Amino acid sequence: MELPLLNAPARSCGTCTLCCKVMGVHDLVPKEKPAMVWCTHCKIGKGCSIYDSRPASCRSYACMWLQGSFPENAKPDRIKAAFATCILDIDGESVTVIGCFKDSSSTDVKDRRIAALVTAVIDNGYPLLVVAGDARKLLFPDSVPLDKRIKIRDALYHRS
Ligand code: SF4
Ligand code: SF4
Repeated sequence: MELPLLNAPARSCGTCTLCCKVMGVHDLVPKEKPAMVWCTHCKIGKGCSIYDSRPASCRSYACMWLQGSFPENAKPDRIKAAFATCILDIDGESVTVIGCFKDSSSTDVKDRRIAALVTAVIDNGYPLLVVAGDARKLLFPDSVPLDKRIKIRDALYHRS
């Protein structure tokens, strides 16, 4: 599967509000929202009750399905996972890592709804960080050398 990385929403969220549960929101006031709990401002399946004043991180967030990188039938509320890109600076090189934020306590990616997307991410040469609550798993394409894997892991785990 080709995996074009786009940077503008090409679809609309519709009834999906999954990222308002699976993602942490560090700049929500007065209190940060942890991952894997519904945001108190979320009208589940409808949208954000503070849309006009939502935090900057919510304004800038667009999952890969919303950007049109994934097939129509891979909508996050259907597959129970939201994928998003993250750019790291590794020794002056911009490295794209893709995060898979699962609505689950398991980082297992064998579920057929998710497995094809995980394969596409890896086959297209991107490292993948699977996040399921407090659990994480980092997967790499064979093309990424060991020293770079260690730097990517350190950068990801240091920032969170
Ligand atoms: S997970 Fe994607 S499609 Fe669903 S609400 Fe968030 S940005 Fe929209
Ligand atoms: S502030 Fe709005 S957009 Fe942001 S997580 Fe909460 S409900 Fe979602």
